[in-house]
Amino acid sequence: MTRDAQHTSDRYDLDALRSAMLSERGGEVDDSIPELAAADPDVCGIAIVDRDGDVRDTEDADREFSIQSAVKPFVYALALADAGDDGQAVLEAVGTEPTGEAFDAVILESETGRPPNPMVNAGALLTANLVSGSTPDERFERILAGISAFAGHELRVDADVSESEQLLGDRNRALGYLMRSRGTLGVPVDDAISVYARACSLVVSAEVLAVMGATLAFGGRNPVTGEQVVPGSVVTTVLSVMATCGMYDGSGGWMRRVGLPAKSGVAGGLVASVPWQLGLGVYSPPLDEVGNSVRGVLVCERLSDDLGLHVFGPPPA
Ligand code: GLN
Repeated sequence: MTRDAQHTSDRYDLDALRSAMLSERGGEVDDSIPELAAADPDVCGIAIVDRDGDVRDTEDADREFSIQSAVKPFVYALALADAGDDGQAVLEAVGTEPTGEAFDAVILESETGRPPNPMVNAGALLTANLVSGSTPDERFERILAGISAFAGHELRVDADVSESEQLLGDRNRALGYLMRSRGTLGVPVDDAISVYARACSLVVSAEVLAVMGATLAFGGRNPVTGEQVVPGSVVTTVLSVMATCGMYDGSGGWMRRVGLPAKSGVAGGLVASVPWQLGLGVYSPPLDEVGNSVRGVLVCERLSDDLGLHVFGPPPA
């Protein structure tokens, strides 16, 4: 029996799931920058996109927020694609191992000086500057065009968020200088921060994340626009690293309970891909202790259980 989550998801009551989640009051809104601290903790938006590009969503699925670290797998995909040769140069520059540490931990591989993986800040700072482009602006323009292709429409930068990220990004600068000292960051630190901060400041919604997750789910082809954004071989690498590293030091428990490649962001966004079946997007600002959206994790747990989405689980009833 083929596992066809699309059929079962068509009948699923997402509004009832959202209502059930609103009673969940745990977690704290991120306060690393003023714009994130101002978020409404009661917002909860859910969206699903299927292989035909059909979108099912709830109230708040159109609420906009900055993508933050949820951008990292997509920047990684663009860097791998731009490197050619299935991204070999990027695979050599950035590790693919989970750290069990926080997303902003100041750690590099001791022997190589490489960032441990592209889903933590050190790795994303480097991958954002490995995309095509000879200047920070050219590299960011490549990221803007590529992430917009994943989204299916032109995205924009939240200028206030970008300014705060650059102004308050001392820890990321520390990571940048540490990588420079080990010879693993080939551009000036401020240039690297400029590209990375703007990438984190792209404005999305739960619905946009679901389209982006679906593009990864369908081998790099956007099911809404039909555009092949990156090669399928790149997507295999990206989904694998999302599965092991995407939820930070909650990745192990996530894979046991939810069983999907996913990536969270401190604004409260969460994107997940059900390979060859669905893309999921959730937005709810309150975060758990490792920086993942509390309601986002619970929504994905429920959808995985109810729709039989776990990549290692039995097919849906
Ligand atoms: N912009 C944030 C940072 O660089 C992103 C962190 C996150 O979303 N986990 O720390």
